[in-house]
Amino acid sequence: MWFRFLSFLGVQVAAGSLGWELGGYLGATIGTVLSSAAWMLVDIWRGGRVMQWLRTGEVAQAPHMQGWWGDFSDRMRRWLRQTEQKMQDSDRRLQEFLAAIQASPNGVVLLDAEGRIEWCNQIAATHFGFDVSRDLQQLIGNLVRDPAFANYAAAPDPAAGVVMIGRGGSVTRPVRLSVHLHPYGEGRRLLLSRDITALEQAEAMRRDFVANVSHEIRTPLTVMSGFVETMQSVPLDEEQRERYLGFMAQQADRMQTLVSDLLTLSSIEGGPAPSSNDWIPVRDLIAHCAREAEALSGLVTAGHAKSHSLRFGPMPDGALAGAHSELLSAMSNLVSNAVRYTPPGGRIEVRWAQLPDGRAEFSVKDTGPGIASEHLPRLTERFYRVDPSRSRETGGTGLGLAIVKHVVQRHGAELQVESTLGQGSRFAIVFPANRLRVEQQPAYAK
Ligand code: ADP
Repeated sequence: MWFRFLSFLGVQVAAGSLGWELGGYLGATIGTVLSSAAWMLVDIWRGGRVMQWLRTGEVAQAPHMQGWWGDFSDRMRRWLRQTEQKMQDSDRRLQEFLAAIQASPNGVVLLDAEGRIEWCNQIAATHFGFDVSRDLQQLIGNLVRDPAFANYAAAPDPAAGVVMIGRGGSVTRPVRLSVHLHPYGEGRRLLLSRDITALEQAEAMRRDFVANVSHEIRTPLTVMSGFVETMQSVPLDEEQRERYLGFMAQQADRMQTLVSDLLTLSSIEGGPAPSSNDWIPVRDLIAHCAREAEALSGLVTAGHAKSHSLRFGPMPDGALAGAHSELLSAMSNLVSNAVRYTPPGGRIEVRWAQLPDGRAEFSVKDTGPGIASEHLPRLTERFYRVDPSRSRETGGTGLGLAIVKHVVQRHGAELQVESTLGQGSRFAIVFPANRLRVEQQPAYAK
């Protein structure tokens, strides 16, 4: 500043002195006026360049000059660069923030004070059927027409929220959304949506499961307490006593089987993934099933003229990787079902076959009653029975195939069911090649 003032003064003095030399007092006056005018013109030109540059706003095009205007344009350039940097930073932060909201598993919609959509993430667009580019600035009330939502939006209670039907489901399996509105800023609202279809289904399944278990336990308990009451109140002879105790033991067995199946199911569901290094000789598994089948068949066909024809295919070499108890449970469930449902005189064939694609199949084929095709998709549901009385009569819990399904899934295998009503059924577990070892390893060699 001082330098500028002194140089202006210096120019005036120099021009004045030159004028004095040339024309005395008048010359000095003219020299001073001319130098001031020249100084002003140069100043206006330099200021004009700076103004011209500021109009374009391009930091890189800042004029390079000395002096006061040069200093001014340098400062402006620095300030503009800092402002640009700040804007870039806040823009980047905004993009990161929006990307984080995009990644949210819940739907997020930002509404302005009038209820227009300012921004929404892709999940919200899917939940409500918005078109992210077309529906911005549209009134939410025009796009979400569910009366439950309209009532809630009129008097929102952020804590309560509302449950409504979302887009993308079907008539039989609608998408259920839990929606909450939260006020923020000046009259703005944040709309959050969450797909609770799976949660509600899981809750319904849990309720059904508890009801089923209670029902399964209550029936034998009622029968047992009936016998206890009778034995307490009515004098019985030895034969009657024996008979009643036999019935009670039967019911106790039934409850025991149910509890044991429930425990198996829960340990399979919550247990660690089956090992892929524990190799179990397949012939041991099949031999175990064969012993169980013989014993069960003896019980089932006792008192009948004919027994079952049980055939266990050639005992295979090779081993299967997985959880021993689970594999045994799955295989013996299929075999025991075949024995229980096939009438005396029927044929049951159990085979182990190596498939051409490297997989191997454990199959159980029977000549029992068969299963109508409409039941096949539901067979592995817990407590699903085609013929409940037949199942209970033979000691079934309705959990056998649910256990098989879990074991099969955990071992990366596949359960195949083929059945023809009146002709018989074939259940097969197809094991993946990576869980099979065709050659018997020395540790298991006979
Ligand atoms: P359960 O303990 O009742 O046998 P499962 O889960 O093992 O329960 O089987 C479910 C239902 O599938 C059975 O109740 C029965 O109706 C049917 N089922 C299973 N295996 C056979 C089979 N080999 N032949 C005919 N029906 C079968």
